[in-house]
Amino acid sequence: MLALQKVRPGTGVELRAVETPSVALGEVLVRVHSAGICGTDLHIAEWTPGYESMESAMPVTLGHEFSGTITAVGDGLEPTLIGTRITARPSTTCGKCTACLAGDEDNCSNRKGVGIGRNGAFADFVCLPHGNCHALPDGLDMDIAALTEPMTVCAEAVATADVRPGQKILVIGPGFIGQGIAVLARAKGADVVVLGRDDEPRLAALRAIGFEHLIDTAHVTMDEALSERAPFDAIIEAAGVPALVPATLPYLKKRGIFTVVGIHPRPAEIDLVGLVRMHQQIRGSYRAPPQTWGEVIAFLAANQDMMSRLISHRLPLADAMSGFKAAHERLATKVMLRVGGEA
Ligand SMILES: [Zn+2]
Ligand SMILES: [Zn+2]
Repeated sequence: MLALQKVRPGTGVELRAVETPSVALGEVLVRVHSAGICGTDLHIAEWTPGYESMESAMPVTLGHEFSGTITAVGDGLEPTLIGTRITARPSTTCGKCTACLAGDEDNCSNRKGVGIGRNGAFADFVCLPHGNCHALPDGLDMDIAALTEPMTVCAEAVATADVRPGQKILVIGPGFIGQGIAVLARAKGADVVVLGRDDEPRLAALRAIGFEHLIDTAHVTMDEALSERAPFDAIIEAAGVPALVPATLPYLKKRGIFTVVGIHPRPAEIDLVGLVRMHQQIRGSYRAPPQTWGEVIAFLAANQDMMSRLISHRLPLADAMSGFKAAHERLATKVMLRVGGEA
């Protein structure tokens, strides 16, 4: 089968012919239908620092946001699972470490990410533990279902920021995570402002689904645009640009919450005295708990037309490289690789 792999440390990814995996104990073989390209995949392709631990898994197939159909089951699983349409939590736990044995899987010390530390979904088939799978409701489009993983990251950010009806929220970064945060914060009844820089295609995607308060600092200074709309009840950062943290904190309300979601290449320098006097909080937000997955799947099923407009590119796996290029150049909101046929 065809697979998009990280073969060695350094820049680049490769489309290669590899063996179809055979299914292991407690695992399922999934024929991939759709798999989204994520910022993490771009970082891995460009080999930005922070992914060195992948080396031991190379060559490894990328792809961690996907949907597909179970086509085979390993020992210990019911054959009736075959044919089930699923999406899956990409982070697998070991079941053997002290935390896992104590039932505290969240703190597993041997987590492996599908598409990072073990083979992922930019391939015709992916194998993973059945316990990581979430069955999809009938009628949920497979491309939309493949948005579940990034949308759980967005849901966790909105929960961490404690977004409430009537609040004014600033979202920094109009990439897919920022877009998803904007969508879910609006669904909670918040008034959402989104900030980007030289980001017209991605801001246009938000405009197309009804967002009006969009700022592009290529055309207006950030201070002008923000002072007009400040103060914000919460700021959620999904750009990964360290300088934007101190630059936007002055526009956060007293006792406001600043949530960091982006992956930052460098530390940020923050005026801590200002933070103290304004009684503000800075929170980090990362992986959502498993129960969030069902909520996000239900949200996606109820909002398919809107979510479909955030998928800017649908490409066959063989064209993965042009998908990576579009995502890298910030022309894309979400690039969806169509891997197999109709499930
Ligand atoms: Zn991702
Ligand atoms: Zn473990």
